[in-house]
Amino acid sequence: MTTEITTTGMIIKETKVGEGNKIFTILTAEHGKIQASGAGVRSYKSKLSAGCSLFCYSNFILKQGKSKTIYNIVSAEKQMDFYDLRYDLHGLALTNYLCDLANYYTDSNMECKEILRLILNTVYYIKKEGYNPKIKPVFEFRLLTESGFSPDFYSCSNCGNDKSLVHFSVENSAVLCKNCSKAENLSQGTLDAIRYITSTEQKNIFNFEISDDVLTQLTNLAEEYLLHNLGKVPKSLIYLKSL
Ligand SMILES: [Zn+2]
Repeated sequence: MTTEITTTGMIIKETKVGEGNKIFTILTAEHGKIQASGAGVRSYKSKLSAGCSLFCYSNFILKQGKSKTIYNIVSAEKQMDFYDLRYDLHGLALTNYLCDLANYYTDSNMECKEILRLILNTVYYIKKEGYNPKIKPVFEFRLLTESGFSPDFYSCSNCGNDKSLVHFSVENSAVLCKNCSKAENLSQGTLDAIRYITSTEQKNIFNFEISDDVLTQLTNLAEEYLLHNLGKVPKSLIYLKSL
């Protein structure tokens, strides 16, 4: 028996296969990450090509093929695309990196509503506002939060003190107070920014102002924490940083 599903999702990765085909990774809210093959999608005559470009958010009809893990795309109707990003080198490289992260932190048959919303909100923001250095650390911290990796940013993990929190230990995923840590790497401004990013409604995550010093500290901590959690350095990050 073949199974057909109707779903809406964002294409976060594509791989060319054979002469004219592509395998897409589609992030959906209810089915998690789906692998789907687009037969003949690279031909300009293909009915699928409009709804099957990278970063496109589309309605899909998918049919289970011979392989249980890869669906065949029957139809794809575009809801939203981010084609304009092609003209923004930084924005495109950042979007690639964020989609890479979304790929790492999701799986098939996983509830991905919040992560899908996060990536859509963020890429929409990049399209609308252009590249901005605040976007990367905000996305990284929020993705880790949505994935269940956020430490307690309100009290010291050693003594419970809720004041004078001065150190964020990336290795231990913990925040420490002045009495419990000799090292300081967390200013009050950065702590306030992290608390905002990890707790505010998703639609507001970029609506805050920070100083250059806070942005630098936030960027360093977010990247360090993410890479420690991920255990590897994505090529898309190396490329982004080379620009
Ligand atoms: Zn303490």
